[in-house]
Amino acid sequence: MKIDLSRLIDRAVYKIDFEQSLDLEKIQSKTDEIVFASPVKVRGSVYETDENMYLDAVVSYEYYENCARCLKEFVNRVETVLSGRLMETSQLSDTDDEFVFYYDNEQVEITEQVLTSILLSLPMKTLCNDDCRGLCLVCGKDLNIEECSCDIQEVDPRLAKLKDLFD
Ligand SMILES: [Zn+2]
Ligand SMILES: [Zn+2]
Repeated sequence: MKIDLSRLIDRAVYKIDFEQSLDLEKIQSKTDEIVFASPVKVRGSVYETDENMYLDAVVSYEYYENCARCLKEFVNRVETVLSGRLMETSQLSDTDDEFVFYYDNEQVEITEQVLTSILLSLPMKTLCNDDCRGLCLVCGKDLNIEECSCDIQEVDPRLAKLKDLFD
């Protein structure tokens, strides 16, 4: 994913707005394979200040996730921000405290940073719906679809054992 900076570098404009999509099938996180449900969208701008050029963008993506409660697969949508300073590839960055995008030949390539922002923004635990009722611990029925008649009080054998200890 490349953004053309020529108009900014020629000083024809002070700001370039862009909106692009990245057709990724999947990426690998530390623990999982993230499979996308649609192309990743990146929209934002590159602008100039007195000394530097900066990039600000919103990355939005949809991926397949399993609900932490009912285990059903659903499409989760996430938005995250990406921003940092632009530097020419020939310059070496001496600062670690800033996010840097390197550019060359009046073009900045941001794919790597987009992928990093996705990996950093992946939620730890997700629900198909905030009100998801999950699965019955006894019969395993999806309680969002159907009620069951299990007595949840007496369900968990580990809890039952504990109860014996205290009785
Ligand atoms: Zn659920
Ligand atoms: Zn049940």
